[in-house]
Amino acid sequence: MMRLPRFQYYTPRDMTEATQILADEGSDAMVIAGGTDLIPNMKRKQQTPKTLVALRHIESLGQIKNGSDLSLGAGLTLSDLVQNDKVKAEYTGLWQAAIQVATPHLRNMGTLGGNICLDTRCSYYDQNAEWRKAIDYCMKKDGEICWVSTGSKRCLATSSTDTAPALISLGAKVRLSSAKDEREVLLLDLYQDDGMDYLLRRPGEIVAEVILPQAAHWRSTYWKLRRRGSFDFPVLSVAAAAALTPDGSIEQARIVLGAVSSQPLVCEKVDEFLAGKKLTDEVIEEASLLCGKAARPVKNTDFAPAWRKRAIVRIATYALRELRGDNMSEQRRSIARHVF
Ligand SMILES: Cc1cc2nc3c(=O)[nH]c(=O)nc-3n(C[C@H](O)[C@H](O)[C@H](O)COP(=O)(O)OP(=O)(O)OC[C@H]3O[C@@H](n4cnc5c(N)ncnc54)[C@H](O)[C@@H]3O)c2cc1C
Ligand code: SF4
Repeated sequence: MMRLPRFQYYTPRDMTEATQILADEGSDAMVIAGGTDLIPNMKRKQQTPKTLVALRHIESLGQIKNGSDLSLGAGLTLSDLVQNDKVKAEYTGLWQAAIQVATPHLRNMGTLGGNICLDTRCSYYDQNAEWRKAIDYCMKKDGEICWVSTGSKRCLATSSTDTAPALISLGAKVRLSSAKDEREVLLLDLYQDDGMDYLLRRPGEIVAEVILPQAAHWRSTYWKLRRRGSFDFPVLSVAAAAALTPDGSIEQARIVLGAVSSQPLVCEKVDEFLAGKKLTDEVIEEASLLCGKAARPVKNTDFAPAWRKRAIVRIATYALRELRGDNMSEQRRSIARHVF
């Protein structure tokens, strides 16, 4: 049986208290929201904080504010998002991403903030402590070498959050709070392509809020491939969002790939290619091939990298067809069974 190590547990009631505890405790402390990722990681000794600061009693983190933008508290559970009619109707890609995370039980506990800050994943890392000890660990925790690419100077673990690609495609910002100050950044700018240091979060910062711009004229969609169709982390995903003119031309598009790099991968070339065009079959084919070219999956998750690279083209085609308004329910079912 894997047991949790001992740790101190704080239950602040507001953000001032929470950020102050984090500032006082320093780098030995981590925040915990739903705990659905952090607790298993602590049992496997991948993450070893001496202090946990729980966010679940902070009321402001559970709020939704619907003004000119839509503001989602980072403490909302994924089930809260799935049950929200506005999210479903106007930010469909986010809704589709949230409903495909894990299982209903985990979505009842797992939060938006926890999903955004989710640890990166790798087949050599997502193992118990004994397994990892047997291979002398790896660079991400306790070791020196990267087993995915022994010559690599950095960890290549994969960003596996479902909601981040969808949120980035929708132009989301995040508000970060610390004991010192508050700042707002594009969610995209929270990530960097490094499997160990994947978040550009300053020490002591808590993600307080996710802010989505108005969705007028925008359509969005999220497609995910995973080993088990019922529930699993993504091995690749495509988030696509576009602002359309009344005649169906694309004013602006944002295509973001998930689980093929240590950060959500923005496909700028595809966005440029799509601007001003209508989603004809030919345009969709060309754009999907460009998505395949952009992604460079490595051998650190389920399915061979070459197969995942080919599969991206197909999944991107499905995403763009759904954006166009095609009924893709059959393809969604076939993906769950992996019929390619
Ligand atoms: C069996 C299983 C299947 C899963 N499948 C998926 C899946 O398909 N897709 C997917 O995306 N995830 C999946 N997960 C992972 C996890 O359940 C979700 O990502 C969930 O949303 C994490 O949220 P949480 O609140 O539980 O995060 P926690 O475990 O509490 O925290 C995760 C990380 O985020 C940090 N954190 C949490 N909240 C904040 C905040 N507000 N500000 C700053 N840092 C914060 C924590 O310090 C920690 O580093 C799965 C987990 C399990 C156990
Ligand atoms: S990519 Fe390399 S360093 Fe990173 S977790 Fe995997 S084996 Fe470890």
